Amino acid sequence: MSLTTHRCTCGATLQFRQDIRKEETGVYPTWKCKDCGTPVPGKTAEKLRHQHPS
Ligand SMILES: [Zn+2]
Repeated sequence: MSLTTHRCTCGATLQFRQDIRKEETGVYPTWKCKDCGTPVPGKTAEKLRHQHPS
């Protein structure tokens, strides 16, 4: 099983649940980089939030 990673515009590599934070505003929750607040694409965030460091 391969891990999804997302390279944020701030240079951070987002890989695990704790690398993103949930924003509960609006109809749908959005996920953002925990460092800079840049929104993470929904499909990517959906994968990231199921990934935990073992
Ligand atoms: Zn970022």
